[in-house]
Amino acid sequence: MDQRQQSIEARQLTYCTLCGACDAACPIGLRPMQTILAQGQKENMLEPFAARAPKTGGELLLSPNKAVRRSFSQSQWVDDCGIDIAKALANGDSIDSQRLQQFIAPLVLASQIVVSDGLLYYALRHWLPNTPLVTLAERLLPKLHHHLQAGDLLLLDPPAFHANYDYLLPIVQQATRHKGVELNLDLQRLAVSLRSYRLDTKAALRARWQWLSLHHTINRIICENPDETTIAAAVSGLPALWLGDLEPL
Ligand code: SF4
Repeated sequence: MDQRQQSIEARQLTYCTLCGACDAACPIGLRPMQTILAQGQKENMLEPFAARAPKTGGELLLSPNKAVRRSFSQSQWVDDCGIDIAKALANGDSIDSQRLQQFIAPLVLASQIVVSDGLLYYALRHWLPNTPLVTLAERLLPKLHHHLQAGDLLLLDPPAFHANYDYLLPIVQQATRHKGVELNLDLQRLAVSLRSYRLDTKAALRARWQWLSLHHTINRIICENPDETTIAAAVSGLPALWLGDLEPL
């Protein structure tokens, strides 16, 4: 677009749900979502943190949600879950470098981090490229997928899924194949987020729900991110539960 002396208007960018599907789909690795996130930022907020500290911290859990903390009691919780940083990233607000350093400092020591927020997972893959990151779906689906049934809509957190697409695809396929389970990702990289930090007005949420439910019979919604269950139930009128609380219908 630069070559054609065109530019994307800020108004158009607000419609991006930051699902990350374009990063995963680009055949030459252009990472369009990274460019979108960088709009309005004075510097590249996704520069890696250079420190190569010894990883003495074991597995850390990055989630403010009590249900997740109960389920992952074997991991050490991080009190500072960086939700303000995720919101700033999503909204194109500048992030104070000291605040970012403060958030990252305990994470640098982790041998592995379980991350519940998809956008933070995306950003942490850039900030800490040498630290293994785990999504909730990656950890929970292999254990709980036998409770999924026809009529379930599995709502994965798109930026996390697309940030590690090649690895997560077979896990999701294996968990949902032959069960009649619907996904908010069609695994051809089309993704519809329900919640996005951006434009989460009632009208926008309803429009996204219409997209998700089009031509599908959905009886129940299973959310990877527990913070999504309230919104999912309100907008759909269906029961919605967190993947970690999955039980048979
Ligand atoms: S594919 Fe997703 S992240 Fe990329 S521009 Fe479209 S909505 Fe935004």
